[in-house]
Amino acid sequence: MKVLVIGGGAREHALCRSLSLDPDVTALYCAPGNAGIAEVAELHPVDALDGDAVARLATELGAGLVVVGPEAPLVAGVADAVRAAGIPCFGPSGEAARLEGSKAFAKDVMAGAGVPTARSYVCTTPAEIDEALDAFGAPYVVKDDGLAAGKGVVVTEDVDVARAHALSCDRVVIEEFLDGPEVSLFAITDGTTVVPLQPAQDFKRALDGDEGPNTGGMGAYSPLPWADPKLVDEVLDTVLQPTVDELRRRGTPFSGLLYAGLAITSRGVRVIEFNARFGDPETQVVLARLKTPLAGVLLASANGTLDVLPPLNWRDDAAVTVVIASHNYPDTPRTGDPIDGLADVAAKDAPDAYVLHAGTRAEGGTVLSAGGRVLSVTATGKDLTAARERAYTALGRIRLDGSQHRTDIALKASQG
Ligand code: AMP
Repeated sequence: MKVLVIGGGAREHALCRSLSLDPDVTALYCAPGNAGIAEVAELHPVDALDGDAVARLATELGAGLVVVGPEAPLVAGVADAVRAAGIPCFGPSGEAARLEGSKAFAKDVMAGAGVPTARSYVCTTPAEIDEALDAFGAPYVVKDDGLAAGKGVVVTEDVDVARAHALSCDRVVIEEFLDGPEVSLFAITDGTTVVPLQPAQDFKRALDGDEGPNTGGMGAYSPLPWADPKLVDEVLDTVLQPTVDELRRRGTPFSGLLYAGLAITSRGVRVIEFNARFGDPETQVVLARLKTPLAGVLLASANGTLDVLPPLNWRDDAAVTVVIASHNYPDTPRTGDPIDGLADVAAKDAPDAYVLHAGTRAEGGTVLSAGGRVLSVTATGKDLTAARERAYTALGRIRLDGSQHRTDIALKASQG
């Protein structure tokens, strides 16, 4: 099978790495990709948001499967364009991707499906905003209704900060604060059958101890030794299957990756948000643990045959990923700095630890930083302590001027 992956972050590098290890994949392409993906896939400089261009490329390449990584192409209808060209595509339609593209739509689907989530108001006027902030009290949770790459959410004790963020959005969702640890649970679905993957936890804040601003994600680990072993089954029954059923009932069936961001609160599991694609950086650790070859799983979602897919196999190993971000991320990340030490990691740490590229580009023989999140250093080990040690050892070999990373990824979980 020839596979074309759309996107160019560490998530797509993780997808491409797994696909390149799948014996059923005879050729692997990526558009637009990055400097690391170029080592496992042939890159094509196509605009990922242009559905017609992606469909044309997939046709020219003879791709038997297109995998759309990021949310923006999905919301722009790239999966629809690929399917219209008669090519199986992993990823939801533009309509169904509104589950991520509009927080208000997601809330409406959850209400219809009876899925537990935070109580919320959708506000468009200053009066509505003040009323909603008053109704819930501190801590305030204020979310831009549109796509904001994980950065449109403000959680604050300060009502002025909350009000200012709300007023800066066209349409805003203000909701009840959910206490308790967060879990990311991914599921592959074909619109009817739902196959959950293993849960992971990510670290959204920029600095150690969950301080600093929200980011796209600074690290992740899996499995979650502290979580209830029944969690996945419970979320399948109360969240994932009802949501997929509700979207099908509404005439917008959802196929692809359904990502549930969950809070394990004192009153039970609540959905914080849905995403319509693999999460970054959780994908890096979830795929590091998946033994089943990936292409067949994604193709079964695209073809509507998940009901006959054999159960997934998982490694017992733990996985940890630590993100290296540019100077000044997430505000105004500095780019164009040379990255050293990548070959050192490949020589000394593979295959237990490896580097997945996010914002990088190659210039001559040098790899340069080209985005906010630059690299994901990923490692496996017999437990989280071993995986953490390997990840941070590999990370220590990499030099990128002014870069930042968290030193406490999976630390608490590894201490039991
Ligand atoms: P979202 O983009 O909806 O995932 O929000 C980003 C982050 O903000 C989440 O991962 C949480 O850490 C935090 N957050 C969002 N909604 C809530 C909530 N209702 N209560 C507490 N924290 C929240």
